[in-house]
Amino acid sequence: MSTDKEPAKAQKGGRNHAGAKELAGYYSSGKRVQEYICVTVASSLLVFNAYHIILNFDVENWKWHFAAAILAIVVSDFASGLVHWLSDSYGSVDMPVFGKAFIRPFREHHIDPTAVCRHDFIEVNGDNFMLTVPYFSYMAYKFISHTPAEIQTFVVFESFMLTLGFFVMLTNQIHKWSHTYFGLPRWVTLLQDLNLILPRKHHRIHHVVPHETYFCITTGWLDYPLEKLGFWPAMEAIILRLTGIKPRTDDMHWCKKEEIR
Ligand SMILES: [Zn+2]
Ligand SMILES: [Zn+2]
Repeated sequence: MSTDKEPAKAQKGGRNHAGAKELAGYYSSGKRVQEYICVTVASSLLVFNAYHIILNFDVENWKWHFAAAILAIVVSDFASGLVHWLSDSYGSVDMPVFGKAFIRPFREHHIDPTAVCRHDFIEVNGDNFMLTVPYFSYMAYKFISHTPAEIQTFVVFESFMLTLGFFVMLTNQIHKWSHTYFGLPRWVTLLQDLNLILPRKHHRIHHVVPHETYFCITTGWLDYPLEKLGFWPAMEAIILRLTGIKPRTDDMHWCKKEEIR
């Protein structure tokens, strides 16, 4: 059903939760400027690099480009899980600069999961766009500094990297759609129903406290296999053994703040 509400388990907090209000208040104008710059620069680089890949596209290599695209989507799903798991499980909002800029949205999202639906395109996607800027800049440099013959030797690899970056850029938008129960365009719900992007039912599993599984949020294809492999608990056991740091103590601290009226 596309019109039902999020389950009770996914709504432990909400916008009246004391922690959610405090975290939302930490969204600063400086952070907003950073997001604007990242969205503008990353989008320009995406278009520039896509143009050069199309320009150097050899139809005989379409199978390699197709395989590269599928692999890129799988890798982006894994990367989304890795970054999400690290940010949910470690670090704290109190860390200098980084905490309020990059950890804060993850904590806010667990106690007010639908806040993301009230955020605009810049706030939702700014940080993911930022991640692509270093490599997209290097790719642009490669395209302008090599001959067409030289470009043929690496264009399939760059096709892989561009698709990977594109899905990294889209990940939080896809995640926002997985929390949106009203007014989604038909093409988005179709992609969700086909599981070409993260489906709504699938992502609910992550939102059950203590938020310890189903971290992949691009397509979610890797969530079930990683869960069966016990991948995340194994990683957490290694970190606990090496550093003595337990996962998600900061997340629990924010979740336990009381609701205010
Ligand atoms: Zn999470
Ligand atoms: Zn979510």
